Amino acid sequence: MSMKDTITVITQTLKARLEQLENKRDILKAPELKQLYNAMKQLEPDERPAYGKAINELRVELEQLVVNHEDQLSTALIEPIDVTAPFDCNVPVEKRPRLLTVEHGSRHPLTTEREIVASIFNRMGYIVHDSRELDDDYHMFGALNFPEGHPARDDYDTFMTDEGLIAPAHTSTMQNRILRWYKPPISAVVIGRCFRNEDLDPRHEHTLNQVEGVYVDKKVNAGHLLATLQSFLEAYYKTEIEFRTQPAYFPFTEPSFEFALSCPFCHKKGCVICGQEGWIELIGCGMIHPNVLQEGGIDPREYTGFAWGFGLDRLVMMKHAIEDVRYFQSGKLAFLKQFK
Ligand SMILES: [Zn+2]
Repeated sequence: MSMKDTITVITQTLKARLEQLENKRDILKAPELKQLYNAMKQLEPDERPAYGKAINELRVELEQLVVNHEDQLSTALIEPIDVTAPFDCNVPVEKRPRLLTVEHGSRHPLTTEREIVASIFNRMGYIVHDSRELDDDYHMFGALNFPEGHPARDDYDTFMTDEGLIAPAHTSTMQNRILRWYKPPISAVVIGRCFRNEDLDPRHEHTLNQVEGVYVDKKVNAGHLLATLQSFLEAYYKTEIEFRTQPAYFPFTEPSFEFALSCPFCHKKGCVICGQEGWIELIGCGMIHPNVLQEGGIDPREYTGFAWGFGLDRLVMMKHAIEDVRYFQSGKLAFLKQFK
């Protein structure tokens, strides 16, 4: 049999075998192919180019058949994506099923950072919840120690529906539910969108993303709170940070603090991110008010806890030196493409 005939026979054999193979790529490792390549050595030098060309063509043809098959398979696997389906945000990022990656798209920076934040708190033992985007007066205010007519309600310029429902202005709208769903010890983080009737400018947007934490157990004190926030920030910025606090007022915590961290970008030397201050005020926090625990069905004589809230947008703006919060919702491709 001539070399040409041998190649023809082997081509037919391999094509027939390809149909049977479960893993089509195995055909590219077929011993017959190797034999064909090895046989080249026995040929006269002037026969080699034509022979080499023929077996290369065979290999290319087989590769194309394998690729065609894989394309058909991936098309068959595409299922309609139900965008309303909830996903479990407690599954670590690396273990989540990968949705189809779209060549021309990119992940929104808030989505990416949200997953990083959730993943750090997961590792610290916190369960992560989504927030709600429509809630009632009780969960937004009443359960959080803002009685009717309380002046602190005026600090929240909320959007309301005609039915009296509220687009929550903070993720604390979930706090009473967290307290009731879980009995102490409780460690939960809520991440979600909040809405405020703001005048828009580079630092204010009607929609913001907040990260809220709730921790309740016996003998919990403010030292635990501050150490938790420090640990989180050091994990997020991958550098050591210092913090300082000053007294603040929130109806749902007592005592309440403003938590400032040493600038993770300049380490207190002063830079554009921290406005040359060296410090960044980032987090409102405090010990959960006994009335709030009581309202959540937890005895404040037995348990104490802490809570905090900070803006995810702010965290991401600092990390990527984004100067205008409005870019996040703008849909500007030039902005989004930077995060490919
Ligand atoms: Zn700085």
